Amino acid sequence: MNEVVGIDLGTTNTVVGAFRNGVASALPDEDGRTLIPSVVSFHPNGSVLVGRPARDRRTIDPKSTVYSVKRLIGRSWDTEEVKRAHARLPFDMREGPGQAALIAVRGETYTLPEISAFVLRKARTVAESALGSSVERAVITVPANFNDLQRAATKVAARVAGLEVLRILNEPTAAALAYGYGKGTSERLAVYDFGGGTFDVTLLDLSNNVFEVLATAGNTFLGGDDIDLAIAERMADEALRQHRYDPREDPILFDRFRLAAEELKHRLSTEQAVTTVVREVTHGAGGKALDLTFTLTRRELEELAGPIVEQTFDTCRDALAVARLTVGDLDQVLLVGGSTRIPLVKRRVEEFFRRAGESHLSPDEVVAMGAAIQASALAGAERRKSAIPPPPAAARRASTEPGVGRGTLPGGGPRPPAEAGLGRLRLSSMVDAAESGPETKPFEPRQRLPTRPGLQPPARPPGPVPTTQPSGTLLGLGSRARVKTGAGLGPEAEAARADAEAPPPASFSAPSEPSETHVTPVVAAPEPSSALDEVTQRYRESSAEVPPTPWPGSIEGLPPNEVDPLLEPPRALDEAALPLPEIPDDVPTRVGSSPLSQAPPSSSRLRPAPSVLSVPAPLLSVPAPVLVDVTPLTLSVETVGGYCDALIGRNTPVPCDRTRTFVTAVDNQTTVRVRVGQGESARFGENTLLGELELSALRAAPRGKVEIAVTFALDTNGMLDVSARDLATGHATQAQLYLVGLPGARELEGLAARHAAQRTG
Ligand code: ADP
Ligand code: MG
Repeated sequence: MNEVVGIDLGTTNTVVGAFRNGVASALPDEDGRTLIPSVVSFHPNGSVLVGRPARDRRTIDPKSTVYSVKRLIGRSWDTEEVKRAHARLPFDMREGPGQAALIAVRGETYTLPEISAFVLRKARTVAESALGSSVERAVITVPANFNDLQRAATKVAARVAGLEVLRILNEPTAAALAYGYGKGTSERLAVYDFGGGTFDVTLLDLSNNVFEVLATAGNTFLGGDDIDLAIAERMADEALRQHRYDPREDPILFDRFRLAAEELKHRLSTEQAVTTVVREVTHGAGGKALDLTFTLTRRELEELAGPIVEQTFDTCRDALAVARLTVGDLDQVLLVGGSTRIPLVKRRVEEFFRRAGESHLSPDEVVAMGAAIQASALAGAERRKSAIPPPPAAARRASTEPGVGRGTLPGGGPRPPAEAGLGRLRLSSMVDAAESGPETKPFEPRQRLPTRPGLQPPARPPGPVPTTQPSGTLLGLGSRARVKTGAGLGPEAEAARADAEAPPPASFSAPSEPSETHVTPVVAAPEPSSALDEVTQRYRESSAEVPPTPWPGSIEGLPPNEVDPLLEPPRALDEAALPLPEIPDDVPTRVGSSPLSQAPPSSSRLRPAPSVLSVPAPLLSVPAPVLVDVTPLTLSVETVGGYCDALIGRNTPVPCDRTRTFVTAVDNQTTVRVRVGQGESARFGENTLLGELELSALRAAPRGKVEIAVTFALDTNGMLDVSARDLATGHATQAQLYLVGLPGARELEGLAARHAAQRTG
């Protein structure tokens, strides 16, 4: 049998979970351990160690032992995070083509997704042994605040490891799912996730099987590692005092201090005072090895950790402010991440939220458990879909196929049938779509596209961008894009207003390169905070309109094969709980290079629709977790002067899409390029550059006569799709998104082949 799993690919630890016989659980390795350290060590004998054996080599062979890759994945060489890691981490890093950050080890270089692929492969192996079956498909979780590049790079890692990604799921949503799936309650939940390297907090509404994210906030440089470092510093001070030698001068020695510090910290979660001995810190008279004996009490640990723990509440305050909630509005605080085992953290959480954190599910396994539930739901829906015949009788059979079971989540209440029916998602895989993409050399991330030659307009002070272009620029588009984004307008209103406006093209001056130029929208500078509030508010309003969802409560007491979906009243036709209708394979894809044959893209969805659409009646009582996530970052395109035209605001529910119209600036222009980024700054350069959108093979016509409506869609994975059409002809136009530093299809094939050939242990 081919099983599906959920994988929490963590910064520190990776956990793989499965949902079997109605129970979600983390899968143990042959030693009974469920936590796989996210560490990869390249052994001198040519094999690659992953997990615990790799972690053990951190002190023996630090230069060949790679960890904390999740902090770096999807980030280019020139970013602060990568620079910082390069300076601090003991293994070597290099700049690769296209500003990719590469890990250099034993004379080879590896891309970041390749390193993560080793960890995923290990997770897969653990799962296959535990389940006794092959595993080829998985739901993989990422932090809620991962941008498009980080999500795409994670997906690449899975593909390199030979795994098909059923979905990229946000970690807090997964945790909430493990907590609330099958409970049948309505609660407002805070997911407080304090891991090794990051802190995240997410506020969700849980209503029956609908999991709806209200707000999310995070700090990517705040975690248990910081506590380890604080302890290690204290130990180093002590070594300096005792032996007149500062271990910080030797990064490898200091890394041993950090590991010893982490162990102390763990033990202090249950003990009051702990002593450790660090061997051979330095050498004294006559070359005698000098050890360090160090004792720490829980009270001392709390003094060191206090300021770090306090910072988590700044982030909590942010999230509450975004959602316009107070702690009194919350019903539950779910503790996630290994650092929530620290008694000080538990205590401070209780003081801040005025209720004890919920931790009956293991905080380091809960994310993988939720991912497993979602994987099972998606796989169940796919199986069912393939079995759905048109007549209701057959559909009834399909919906009650064997394997639909009842059971109890650990600590949870009654649960619905396992084969929850979330439908086929628009898995707009960059990888899949890139298969028809341009050829590039194997093993090299795609080159960063050159910046626009001679296209930088004169520097402009911050402030609104005029809606009329100064002559001499090459920019332009129809008036639709001049609709002021954000402030005072919700997405629907914005779309409606955009559609209502006539699109007379703006005037443009002749560019120096007649057949290829960048066109960016002309808009007023966005006002992110008010736009955000507006989006949040509108979302609230619209979500209140979502009809109640049928819940397994209605079938409680019935064995699954006695559930007759036809008995459900039409009232219960909750589209959200049902499989998607068939979606043609040629839907707009991430980097689709072939012309699109579908109907014109819609400008916006009318409500924060979950990942599903309406379906035929016979399947209606099939329950499924419905996940309504939000995008953590504002998606923008670059405007004249380097400003942002915000397309999709931070915290907008996904899936969603927005359409902008771009107009040619010169006669017979064949190509248009637009830079796309994510982030909250009004200045494009201060945000993360995702890549460039290229519209090509445009119809030959005088300038201003070609108007291309481009739809930017964020799918349920929070990942970007683009599609475009020529407004005059209604035909699809070639639109390709080149993401910074990510491999194309051929490169990926090469990476996967190299990966498969590598011996792992
Ligand atoms: P991530 O999500 O970053 O992969 P985890 O959720 O696995 O991380 O948490 C890892 C962090 O939890 C590490 O900093 C680790 O030291 C810490 N941790 C794990 N167990 C304990 C414990 N018993 N007491 C204190 N900290 C712990
Ligand atoms: Mg985690």
